[in-house]
Amino acid sequence: MISRRDFVTATAAAAAIMAGGGAPISRAAAQGKLSEAELLRFEPLGNVTLVHLTDIHGQLVPLHFREPSVNIGVGAARGQVPHIVGAEFRKLFKVVDKSADAYALTHDDFEALARTYGRMGGLDRIATIVKSIRAERSGKVLLLDGGDTWTNSWTSLKTQGQDMVDCMALLKPDAMTGHWEFTLGEARVKELTAKLGFPFLAQNIRDTEFEDKVFEPSKMFETGGVKIGVIGQAFPFTPIANPRWMMPKWSFGIRDREMQAEVDALKAKGCDLIVVLSHNGFDVDKKMAGLVKGIDVILSGHTHDAVPEVTKAGATLIVATGSNGKFVSRLDLDVQGKAIKGFRYRLIPVFSDAITPDAEMAALIAKHRAPHEADLNRVLGKSDSLLYRRGNFDGTLDNVICDAILAERDAEIALSPGIRWGTSILPGQDITFEDITNGTAMTYPACYRMKMTGQRLKEVLEDVADNIFNADPYYQQGGDMVRTGGLGYTIDIAKPIGSRISGMTLLKSGTPIDAAKDYAVAGWASVNQGAEGPAIWDVVATHIQRQKSISATARAAVRIVGA
Ligand SMILES: [Zn+2]
Repeated sequence: MISRRDFVTATAAAAAIMAGGGAPISRAAAQGKLSEAELLRFEPLGNVTLVHLTDIHGQLVPLHFREPSVNIGVGAARGQVPHIVGAEFRKLFKVVDKSADAYALTHDDFEALARTYGRMGGLDRIATIVKSIRAERSGKVLLLDGGDTWTNSWTSLKTQGQDMVDCMALLKPDAMTGHWEFTLGEARVKELTAKLGFPFLAQNIRDTEFEDKVFEPSKMFETGGVKIGVIGQAFPFTPIANPRWMMPKWSFGIRDREMQAEVDALKAKGCDLIVVLSHNGFDVDKKMAGLVKGIDVILSGHTHDAVPEVTKAGATLIVATGSNGKFVSRLDLDVQGKAIKGFRYRLIPVFSDAITPDAEMAALIAKHRAPHEADLNRVLGKSDSLLYRRGNFDGTLDNVICDAILAERDAEIALSPGIRWGTSILPGQDITFEDITNGTAMTYPACYRMKMTGQRLKEVLEDVADNIFNADPYYQQGGDMVRTGGLGYTIDIAKPIGSRISGMTLLKSGTPIDAAKDYAVAGWASVNQGAEGPAIWDVVATHIQRQKSISATARAAVRIVGA
């Protein structure tokens, strides 16, 4: 029989959850297996605490997000963190199968574990964690946001990032950098950064005309008696991975030499500790740590890796905090005589049923969502399968999107971008408009339709593949592989550009793709200006409404060799 205490705990938690998203409380939280005290437990160390958030992608409320089942590393990164998934990952980091950490960090048994451990994230839960750390480590904390914060939800799209800016302001970060932020356009980014109340740092963005710095490159802080220089590194390949025309006057790039100069300048000004707040992606950060001397800590974003331990690249500590608000990183440092004498780290999983929402943040989130509730809650259909995005080649959510494109745009072949954001949907769950926009909301959503020759199609696949599988991380300019509908192919990852893709087949006829022939190709997220077509979320919504229930499995249309 349930005791009164259990009942009260469960009811209070359930009430909190209902306020934050209407989902039923998970079993583990109801049974008291997850507790806030346990999640926040941390034996403090030293004189500095760095708190890192990154790649929230506009997600204000708790969600499901399945980590990748395929994450192939190439060159020096082959078989290294973060290119380890599933059982291998659990073995390496001593994560117990089917545990809360297994659910948070790996993909296996996702559906069952999601029902046990519930949704993760929610900026109101993150606020509770940040407040708790600040209370415990008064005067020693820097809160740093790695970017990809202001876009990719319906409310952030409708408010052009204002909902995120307002909610993040309550957290009072000390600095941020960016990537998808730039897809709001230069003018909007300038407007928002001018009023942030904290610096938007990017040492690697210059104006195209005079090479002047567009943003402050770095800022010095004094925390716990330690002088800390924080350097911002925005996503170096923004104008390649995203539309150039949205940021025509800004040039990006890694800019190692300028990074070195910035490190040296901060040291000359008396900094004891150099922190890079980076949106490079993990492998690029690792390479940069080897080339630029004197970086003590890199807070790594972009590739969405949730790594439960600090990775060392020479003397540099690299921290990777996952995505979508699922995690908060806490890194305590003992800095003595300009050197890190000791550190302690925890990747704190934000189990939304166990962590009390911060009331002030919850109220602000509710205020921002209220005008859009009717859209957000609109039920389009039901999911019969687990819909997710992450994986180098394939995601069931992408398969649904590709099917929608083929059907609604009357195309033979569908292309869908290999973006890493997009929340997961459990079997049996209603699919809402919010679920679909969580995987599609962007400022260049036109679902175009065009004729493309077989030759051109191959070039597109080769180009995208090289952006992921070039052995030199400094040439890895993209996300995951472009998703295809109606098209099968073989990819040899180990080959150079131009010879990775073979055996391209039109699936509906089973015939080989003819280099000279035209095919009806439809897709979305074109980086070219002037792409025309309905918004992708409307295409997908219409398709789901027609189908009523959606079932999608992982596909075998892409054959992978050389991994
Ligand atoms: Zn991201």
